[in-house]
Amino acid sequence: MTVAFNCKEVTCPFCDRPSSRIHFTYNRTFQDLPIQGNKVFIIICNRKMFCDNSDCKHTTFAERFDFMYY
Ligand SMILES: [Zn+2]
Repeated sequence: MTVAFNCKEVTCPFCDRPSSRIHFTYNRTFQDLPIQGNKVFIIICNRKMFCDNSDCKHTTFAERFDFMYY
C-alpha cells in the first residue's frame, strides 16, 4: 500500500497571496488506481484558510488540488 501526503503552503486562489492562518484542517483519503497490483491511498491535508489580504473579497478559502477531479 502506498500513501501520499500533501501538506504545503497555501495560496489564496482569489488574490494569489500566501496564507499561514489555518481555519481548520481535515484529512481526506482517496483510493487511487492500483499501481502494479498495490492499492494506493492518497491522504490529503485539506485546509480551510483565512485570507489576510484586506483587498480580497474572500476572508476564507479552501485549499484546492488541481490533480483531483470533483
Ligand atoms: Zn485572498
